[in-house]
Amino acid sequence: MNELDSELIRQKLISEGFIEVQDEKKAELILINTCSVRKKAEEKAIHFSRQMKNNNKTVVMLGCLAQHKGEELLKVSKADLVIGTRSYEKLIDILLDFERKSTKRAICEDLGIFQLKNRKVREGEFSSFVNIQHGCDNFCTFCVVPYTRGREFSRNAMDILNEIKQLEEQGIVEITLLGQNVDSYFDGKYDFSDLLKLIEDNTNYIKRIKFTSPNPRDMTMKVIKTIAQSEKIVRWIHLPLQAGSNRILRKMNRGYTKEEYIYQALTIRDIIKDVSITTDIIVGFPGESEEDFKETLDVVRNVKYDGAYMFKYSPREGTPASLFKEQVDNETKGRRLRELIDEVNKYIVERRKLMLNREFEVLIEGPSKKDFGYSVGKTFNNISVIVKGLYKPGTFIKGIVRGIKGHTPILEISGN
Ligand code: SF4
Repeated sequence: MNELDSELIRQKLISEGFIEVQDEKKAELILINTCSVRKKAEEKAIHFSRQMKNNNKTVVMLGCLAQHKGEELLKVSKADLVIGTRSYEKLIDILLDFERKSTKRAICEDLGIFQLKNRKVREGEFSSFVNIQHGCDNFCTFCVVPYTRGREFSRNAMDILNEIKQLEEQGIVEITLLGQNVDSYFDGKYDFSDLLKLIEDNTNYIKRIKFTSPNPRDMTMKVIKTIAQSEKIVRWIHLPLQAGSNRILRKMNRGYTKEEYIYQALTIRDIIKDVSITTDIIVGFPGESEEDFKETLDVVRNVKYDGAYMFKYSPREGTPASLFKEQVDNETKGRRLRELIDEVNKYIVERRKLMLNREFEVLIEGPSKKDFGYSVGKTFNNISVIVKGLYKPGTFIKGIVRGIKGHTPILEISGN
């Protein structure tokens, strides 16, 4: 979401006559888009801001940290302006005002939804993010998003479709619909499944539709069936688990039980052919016992994920969980994380082996960074594969998986 915000802000500035320079030394104005999901990201952003101020730049802090900390961030980062996520709509006015008066300030009020009327695609770009929803109403006890991004709001389906049509006319073949809770999308007329169908039926050049992230509590059979029947909606669902113990899920305010989650994941596997399921898991949430942690491992064994983002719990200021007693010590968190990674990896290897000797269509993303002379691309179920040779990003190729390197299948072009 931050990546998309940065791109939209960049386009907005350029359309208003600002000039982008590649070398930061030559810039007069530096905008830093911040994330407050983890402490490390906050520290890096503040450090960078101070460094830029020491180099006499005008510095603007944007993003979740800006929204969350406001005035306080103005002081610690030494930035000239702090502009929260809900104030981007007036970004240009705020910048021009600063140019006139040089008054340092933090602006974090709700000044309307930030939208661009005309989206421009960069040269060679073939895949784009599209926002379908802002904010979140779920208030999971570990998460700062409801405080930094505000209440949930779904964009109008027709506005979304128009934006996607603009993108496909400029060569985009893949879109990723973004929201904190995409499956609760509802604009008053279209629900999430209707929106997916609307996009599928009314686009010509879009070949792949992805979305992230749904919430297990809002995933419906209607959405699952829509994906199963579609030829454009990628067969990949990122289904954040966070924890396997019902006691911890309750403390997290996640709104589902372990049993409901497993049932849902297995139903998805049954109904959507070749689907891949990935997840997010937190270890060491306050009060998590060894027994609770074992419940998480049990979900992993049942669902057999195709990939997972796994983290040690990091207390975020202003969230209920940061005040919970029984914080788990760092050593225990580290050990549980290693154990979890080993368990998840076992099933990833098992699932990758199922791809051997089968044909896949792959959308090339670019040259592989790790394997010289190879390109990297994604299958229709969003698994990264490598293929020998350098292919143009955005092209589709077909091939057969003939080997696996680590977790990465190696594709051979059909007919070779
Ligand atoms: S649903 Fe996601 S974004 Fe919303 S509060 Fe929970 S973790 Fe945060």
